[in-house]
Amino acid sequence: METLTLGSTGPNVKLIQSLLNRIGYKILQVDGVFGYQTQQNVIAFQRNNGLFPDGIVGPATWNVFEKLLLGYDTYIVRPGDTIYNIARKYYTTVDAILTANPGIIPNNLVAGQQIIVPFGIDIVFTDIDYTYEILDRQIRGLRVRYPFIEVGIAGKSVMGKNLYFIRLGRGPRQVSYNATHHANEWITTPLLMKFVENFAKAYSVGGSIRGYSIPDIWRQTTLYVIPMVNPDGVDLVNYWPNYADPAYNEAIKLNKTGLPIPSVWKANIRGTDLNLNYPAEWDKEHNLEIQQGIIGPAPRDFGGPYPLSEPETISMVNFTKNHNFRLIIAYHTQGNVIYYQFENLQPPESTTIAQLFAKVSGYVIAENPGEASYAGYKDWFIQEYGKPGFTIEVGIGVNPIPVSQFPDIYQQNEEILILGMLV
Ligand SMILES: [Zn+2]
Repeated sequence: METLTLGSTGPNVKLIQSLLNRIGYKILQVDGVFGYQTQQNVIAFQRNNGLFPDGIVGPATWNVFEKLLLGYDTYIVRPGDTIYNIARKYYTTVDAILTANPGIIPNNLVAGQQIIVPFGIDIVFTDIDYTYEILDRQIRGLRVRYPFIEVGIAGKSVMGKNLYFIRLGRGPRQVSYNATHHANEWITTPLLMKFVENFAKAYSVGGSIRGYSIPDIWRQTTLYVIPMVNPDGVDLVNYWPNYADPAYNEAIKLNKTGLPIPSVWKANIRGTDLNLNYPAEWDKEHNLEIQQGIIGPAPRDFGGPYPLSEPETISMVNFTKNHNFRLIIAYHTQGNVIYYQFENLQPPESTTIAQLFAKVSGYVIAENPGEASYAGYKDWFIQEYGKPGFTIEVGIGVNPIPVSQFPDIYQQNEEILILGMLV
């Protein structure tokens, strides 16, 4: 882990600021700048945890943060312990402990037995910048807290990072949601991750979301979430310019716009725009690019040398072919717009579903194909299967959409995410 000290900046600084805010330290602005007050909070945290109070987040302090970020502790039962007492000691709930330890017998704890104790804070933070490492840790934490979540790998990125999928539900109706084909549209990753966490939490207690019974949905539907299709691009956007890796420096050279990487970079690490790389009228897309003078790798709008030239798009296509999705949603930013067409190949019900999604979100339905007119994932899905596929563009303003819009974005999309599993 990167050492953080006075003057450090970046996504890991935001991460620990957000964490310290959540666990009772003096509330800080989550600004990604390790200033005096952040240092004071780190020193207080170190004192409370038996660490040397130097205000520097090195390996020993990271170890403790890491455990909190993963969201659980491993506890060895002592004589006389009860689940209730353990829950109190950790500021958590009996339900959370029972969920994380299927098969445990509450009134018959055995001294020396090892149990998982989830902390009383959420795992998915929504006021921070995302990186692959942060996503990876959240997924590891969620699958321990909620053992009924299944996690797998749909494929790898150019740089060998996992394209994770998360499976929720066990029903015959299969649907799939994905986020962050485009690097600087990464706010769509926490949108899906927060939904996963809330859904798992509701399922574990037999609860509901917006009046929909989650155990009922669990029996009807199986949802596959791919929260980050373009992890290399996300890291380029959010860690930049701190990376020493040559691949990142090659990528940065492709940016001839004079603008900072986060405001221009949509592509994968090789400069291919993944959502223009699918075999769905790719030639038409390619000709449009040539007319615009885009003939090679670039921060955005280059659809690759040929269709499916990238490991990320190959992974998405294979993953889709290996399932039987009744509906897919691809999340992008921005504009609060729902796209549902491709060359008139979509089924009639796509219109009805788009209208339903518009009604519950307040978003508008695009009547022209728009940005992703050819060679996008939803285009390819509609072309191949003739089933409902949607691109939903969340947020308003300039990319990257500031994370301050997250609460609105989540509110607007939560019912879409539920209904997508039911329509
Ligand atoms: Zn996009």
